Amino acid sequence: MKHFPFVFPCLILLLALAACTNVSPVESGVSRNLARERAVRISGLRYELAFSIPASPEEPCSGEVTIRFNLSSKGQLQLDFRPGAKAVHGLSVNGREMSADVRNEHIVIPGKALKKGPNEITVSFTPDDAPLNRRPEFLYSLLVPDRARTLFPCFDQPDLKARFTLALDIPEEWVAVSNGAALEGRRSGERKHIRFEESVPLPTYLFSFAAGRWDIASFDRDGQPVHIYHRETDPEKLAQLPEIYRQIDCALDWMEDYTGIAMPFPKYDCVIVPGFQFGGMEHPGAILFNESRMFLGEAPTDVEKLSRTDLICHETAHLWFGDAVTMEWFDDVWTKEVFAGHFAAQITRPMFPEIDFRTMDFRNFNIRAYEEDRTAGTTSIRQRLDNLQDAGLIYGNIVYDKSPVVMRMLADTLGADAFRMGLQEYLHQYLYGNATWPALIDILDQYTDADLKTWSHQWVEEKGMPEYPESDALPNLSALGYGYYPMSGNAIATALASVTSLEKPYERLSTLANLYENMLRGRLTPKHLLPCLEEVLRKEKDALVASSALGYLGEVWRHCPDEVEELLHGLAWSGDIPAQVRLSAFRNLVHLHRDAGTDEELWQVWLRQRPWPGLLLSAEDYNTLACELALRRPVDMEQIRSLQRSRITNDDRLARFDYVWPSLSPDKAVRDSVFMSLLEPGNRATEPWALESLRLLNHPLRQQEALEYIVPALDEMQEIQRTGDIFFPKNWIVATLSGHDSSEAAAIVRSWLDAHPDYPPLLLNKILQAADPLLRHFGQR
Ligand SMILES: [Zn+2]
Repeated sequence: MKHFPFVFPCLILLLALAACTNVSPVESGVSRNLARERAVRISGLRYELAFSIPASPEEPCSGEVTIRFNLSSKGQLQLDFRPGAKAVHGLSVNGREMSADVRNEHIVIPGKALKKGPNEITVSFTPDDAPLNRRPEFLYSLLVPDRARTLFPCFDQPDLKARFTLALDIPEEWVAVSNGAALEGRRSGERKHIRFEESVPLPTYLFSFAAGRWDIASFDRDGQPVHIYHRETDPEKLAQLPEIYRQIDCALDWMEDYTGIAMPFPKYDCVIVPGFQFGGMEHPGAILFNESRMFLGEAPTDVEKLSRTDLICHETAHLWFGDAVTMEWFDDVWTKEVFAGHFAAQITRPMFPEIDFRTMDFRNFNIRAYEEDRTAGTTSIRQRLDNLQDAGLIYGNIVYDKSPVVMRMLADTLGADAFRMGLQEYLHQYLYGNATWPALIDILDQYTDADLKTWSHQWVEEKGMPEYPESDALPNLSALGYGYYPMSGNAIATALASVTSLEKPYERLSTLANLYENMLRGRLTPKHLLPCLEEVLRKEKDALVASSALGYLGEVWRHCPDEVEELLHGLAWSGDIPAQVRLSAFRNLVHLHRDAGTDEELWQVWLRQRPWPGLLLSAEDYNTLACELALRRPVDMEQIRSLQRSRITNDDRLARFDYVWPSLSPDKAVRDSVFMSLLEPGNRATEPWALESLRLLNHPLRQQEALEYIVPALDEMQEIQRTGDIFFPKNWIVATLSGHDSSEAAAIVRSWLDAHPDYPPLLLNKILQAADPLLRHFGQR
């Protein structure tokens, strides 16, 4: 400490000298230092973008961008552009043509070409196709977190917000939507030229457009049109559009009322995308939604209905939290997700008065967060991020599901009114700008005497489930706590005997969760938990508790497969339990059945489209049945394929079916070739389809022959991260490992981990999270 005063000024001097040179090294990605340097120097940023898009995904697109900005100091400047030199066709800086110096994913603009004050850079280029998600009849751009720099030259960092104008040259019969409203379109021959209104200031990751053959449903919100773009053809699904709009309208009303700020963007349009890789993405004016989450089947369960509403409310809440006020850097991405999650749960409540919301929150947040937080790959809520190229790996259950639990603690500490006033102050102060988590804590701090900084350090900066002292009674009955509650033998016996007689659904769910966590840590065996789960499933009236109990059966199945299969069969046939529980049991049975008699029963259900009495199956259920039956009945495969194909009337769903089908082949050589094809990025561009295919290749019934896929799938992870979207690395490894339940598989994963001691830590976390059930079962953690 004594030397501190002497060291400190020297350090300041060195930092000041470094800042004067103004030059960050040209390294791949977007480093934190480069982002900081540019945020200081650049202001008044505008992008004028133009893309020309051919109908066929085989033909390349072309693009041109003019970037206008003010520079506070002269010196070299790096534009981010990942496709490299071959994709840059022309560069002019402040009116002077020059050859482009392209290095390490950047176009380096020499200092002598730039001036203090206004500057203008124009680049013509070939965009990379990957972030455009080009399909035969449509496309949509998806740039979060750092893929804007793959699509066009830009300053790809969330704190350099810009106004965007866009012009699209597209096939004449296509339509298009972007952040700004479409202005007059011009036709020439077989092409159409559309210009869009300039956007309000947006970070690069929220710029977006979609184009193609989309149908448009239009609604009116107090004189403002809301358009829903979609490709659905089934009349029963189309009939859900007014309900989808009604929920959007409710969510907007709720957020406007709570925040005191009218919708902060000029329009609310959305696109319902087939085969979308996320649940949703909150681009203002062009929100993207996953088709299978938005259009529900014939008899949706409460869980499916809640999940759709939650998704709509989540993306809508982002318009305020994330879109209007944006994190400065992606280490704080959780600050937008936590509010979207927190408010989605609040907005959903009045729409489902029959649902117990403490139970819903515990199920949506605690149970999902525990899945990652109990693993060796868990992380803190706020994670350090040195380069934007790793930002996608920050996302996960901790960011989405643990953070709302933590936020509820904060809201309870402040009280509802102070919490709301603090958030209103935060929104007003940073509207259309950027903010950090410490900046929010500073504001909230004024509304409470509690020590928020210590609290924040404990819950936000540190990782893992807090472990409480061993309890001799039932712990966390309120379901408001978070963590691992070790139970004594006495407490476990009491819980097993009394869980179904506890009065409140959240008491039953919390107790089940505690039993499950204690089972995973060896305090009781799966065989002991099974009769308790059975009793819950036979007696439980609350759909959320029942569906969680069914989820817990999945782990018990690893240990007692025959008993679990028999239980599911009994539940699916039982006339005494709620239809939703029966349906969920039936769906589980379809996936894991091995009994020949059950297989024959399911075959009759599928063939005649005649479900068991009282069950209502959806078209998607028959599709899943077709795949699971094909796996078990190789001789009937061709019949199954042609009949199931004839039942599918929508072109997008047919394309998906044809894509997935070869992964079911009884011929190992065919499956090997499917697996090899998945190692090529171009063949896995529609990520949900690729994941379905990978999961079927590694189906429990084929796991012995699929052992050899584990190492190449692990080896591919870095490439998956490089070429895929945010959730793909984790989903890829989950799909690979989910069907494996052998000591050989556990040993393969263990030795792969041991052979990669210096693996990139954020990516390693994903593997450790996904491998946890397998490694835990065989004592290889
Ligand atoms: Zn979100």
